Amino acid sequence: MENLPEPLRVVAQELAKLPGLGPKSALRIALTMLKMPKEKVSGIGQSVIDLREKLCICEQCASITDTCPCKICSDPKREHDKLCLVSEWDSLLAIEEMGLYRGYYLVLGGLLSPLDGVTPQQLEFQKLEERLAKGEVKELILALGATVDAEATASFIKNMVENKFPEVALSRLAQGIPIGSEVKYTDKETLRQSLEYRQKL
Ligand SMILES: [Zn+2]
Repeated sequence: MENLPEPLRVVAQELAKLPGLGPKSALRIALTMLKMPKEKVSGIGQSVIDLREKLCICEQCASITDTCPCKICSDPKREHDKLCLVSEWDSLLAIEEMGLYRGYYLVLGGLLSPLDGVTPQQLEFQKLEERLAKGEVKELILALGATVDAEATASFIKNMVENKFPEVALSRLAQGIPIGSEVKYTDKETLRQSLEYRQKL
């Protein structure tokens, strides 16, 4: 990249820092932008600036929003007694897309990970406790996934809820065999959880 003219090199280097982009694809994108009409490139630049200027973090659920509180938190028709805890905002989007869940959310901002040094102080546990302390939530639904970190986070929350909010019911998304797959091809841990959380027919 050293031989590139300065402005092109700067853009290519910045793009190459984005996830999933190597130096070659970053340069290809930079060259594509160079060939675009000036207004179109300016539009892209402005929309990147707007990302930071027009979006904020919802003070109630910690999701990314252009209104504060966000549309979900300010919707009085949702079920006040249900709170769904997700690790990242895109999980909220996925659940919301199904249109089945009508409660509220809280975005934790990650998962506890002793190995990576992620502690409860770095996540939105204070928001969670404040929310539960209000007394409206009767069921806390954990939608954190099925990784080692998700398990660690779930057991931390279980302890916290049992100690501080014993009246709140704690549940989590069912885990088991994905639709369309066979028992014989299922990994041991998934099979163990499928058996543990088996359902009545
Ligand atoms: Zn919100």
